[in-house]
Amino acid sequence: MKTLTGVVVDASMQTNVDGIYAAGDCAETFDSLTGRSTISGVQPNAADQAYCAALNMVGKHAFQRGVRQIDVIDTLGLISSSFGQWQGVRGGQWVEVTDVRNFRYIRLEFSRDVLIGCNMVGVTEHSGILRALIQHKVHLGEWKEKLLQDPSLIKEAYTACVEQQYMERASIFHMPGATASRSAHAAY
Ligand SMILES: Cc1cc2nc3c(=O)[nH]c(=O)nc-3n(C[C@H](O)[C@H](O)[C@H](O)COP(=O)(O)OP(=O)(O)OC[C@H]3O[C@@H](n4cnc5c(N)ncnc54)[C@H](O)[C@@H]3O)c2cc1C
Repeated sequence: MKTLTGVVVDASMQTNVDGIYAAGDCAETFDSLTGRSTISGVQPNAADQAYCAALNMVGKHAFQRGVRQIDVIDTLGLISSSFGQWQGVRGGQWVEVTDVRNFRYIRLEFSRDVLIGCNMVGVTEHSGILRALIQHKVHLGEWKEKLLQDPSLIKEAYTACVEQQYMERASIFHMPGATASRSAHAAY
């Protein structure tokens, strides 16, 4: 069986031996987010991978889309969390804000105009937004510069960028002007 640090599996959690699967801390998968082979080492991924492996073992076709890079730890009531490529990437940009008095810290990592990772201590209120922006590789456009100036604008950035991207996608299906002119031609 092929091993690197862990047992190497494909996106269906199958090892290189037909019909033999691995999941969780022993399994090493390819992570499309980082482009690297990785052992996830967290419980939610272990459960997802086991579910995926089990489906394939009973003849259903399931694939893992990626490793969810999440870490959350509670230290005497102080919650620390990290998502995605929290260590940043070469050529990327980052911003951090430390509020020592209130035990709060946030660091955001960007590659071009995409948020790729974050690290937080004592900050839990925007975890869902941060995770969604990272996981869906949302293009922040001008909001990246605004966030570099003030990371607390993350909610506003999410609303603006995700809303705009939904509008763009929706407009593919709903273009009243274009439909009207096509109908007019058809009528002739
Ligand atoms: C100290 C610590 C803190 C952690 N904190 C977090 C956290 O805050 N958040 C988070 O998401 N993850 C955390 N993790 C990681 C998380 O626990 C693992 O990623 C997850 O449990 C992996 O699940 P698993 O089923 O692959 O392995 P495991 O949960 O380790 O299960 C493997 C099981 O196999 C059994 N076993 C081993 N050898 C044999 C054998 N030869 N025969 C039969 N049974 C065997 C073991 O007894 C064990 O019950 C933490 C891990 C540690 C060690």
